[in-house]
Amino acid sequence: MPSSKGYAVLSAQSALAPYNFSRREPGATDIAVEILYCGVCHSDLHMTRNEWGNAVYPMVPGHEIVGRVIAAGSGVSKFKAGDIAAIGVIVDSCRKCAPCSKGEEHFCDEGATLTYAVPDRFDGSITMGGYSNNYIVDERFAHTVPANLNLAAVAPLLCAGITTYSPLRHWKAGPGKKVGIVGLGGLGHMGLKFAHSFGAHVVQFTTSPRKKDDALKLGANEVVVSTDAGQMKAQTNSFDFILDTVSAPHALDDYLPLLKQDATLTLVGLPDVPPSFAPFKLIERRVSIAGSTIGGMKETQEMLDYCGAHNIVSEVEVIPIQEINEAFERLLRQDVKYRFVIDMSSLS
Ligand code: NAP
Ligand code: ZN
Ligand code: ZN
Repeated sequence: MPSSKGYAVLSAQSALAPYNFSRREPGATDIAVEILYCGVCHSDLHMTRNEWGNAVYPMVPGHEIVGRVIAAGSGVSKFKAGDIAAIGVIVDSCRKCAPCSKGEEHFCDEGATLTYAVPDRFDGSITMGGYSNNYIVDERFAHTVPANLNLAAVAPLLCAGITTYSPLRHWKAGPGKKVGIVGLGGLGHMGLKFAHSFGAHVVQFTTSPRKKDDALKLGANEVVVSTDAGQMKAQTNSFDFILDTVSAPHALDDYLPLLKQDATLTLVGLPDVPPSFAPFKLIERRVSIAGSTIGGMKETQEMLDYCGAHNIVSEVEVIPIQEINEAFERLLRQDVKYRFVIDMSSLS
């Protein structure tokens, strides 16, 4: 079994600390990847602290992975040793249900296999994530990376990128549309970049007035401080689509009146306490609340290729893995510009 080292938590209360483990033996269609960079998603924080109630310990988090292929099985066609490969939130699925057949593995009827903290379909061992030195994955669940992009800044595209790209495409953000992005964190800043790139008029909502200048630089046409009732009221009945990326409990009632008739507010943020709303706010203009999760393999590759063509990457603070616990605390204080990425060379 390939030996691995990384950082793990042993319980909901424990800090991340060095941890050695082994991965499954690579099969014919697998690649072995030496991890170069791994992004730090707020989901890693929710998961390690068991805020969603589905944690399995020991847990090595991390699902925004960019690395170098060090070995490829005899049946691998997409990669060879030395290539760059990217791995996101999904590392396997049933591969035969209707969603899987369409490349929408995130909707797999049997449930997709996640990069960490679930049983591996091959041997039942618990998957261990990217806060580590290597990963073994079937090539179907790995992506190629456009050569022109900075690799550390590519890593967050694998979760924050696709999680915002997919709903913005689905709800047709583009020219002539007014789109709101709620929360300027890892997901939010990618949503802002994509909505701007797709040609929408973009309004960034934030609880942090200090982020206003950054939001404008990242492509916002307007910035609204969501705690200012006057600024919020001025946006009433004007949005075609709002994407909510907030990681903490908050009231949707502040945002629903901002939607036009029949428009949609889509949740991608996953606070441990569900957001609240008053049904009256839905019926006034027949607006909808929807949800969206990451994206399938096909759309994730499409997103990476789009980023290559349009030179889009994440804004990153690269850290050594020894600073990961401090990074988690800073994430909770909304103090990150705008994604931490671990430089895995710090592990050795
Ligand atoms: P993040 O970088 O911590 O950003 C979250 C942002 O939410 C913060 O920067 C802040 O923006 C805002 N916020 C935080 N606390 C708030 C509060 N109490 N009230 C209002 N706004 C608050 O987190 P992330 O990595 O982008 O992840 C965001 C959420 O998406 C997490 O819940 C994560 O688990 C979830 N997620 C979902 C999927 C999916 O597939 N659906 C994928 C990845 C992540 P401002 O400072 O601008 O207000
Ligand atoms: Zn994530
Ligand atoms: Zn399936």
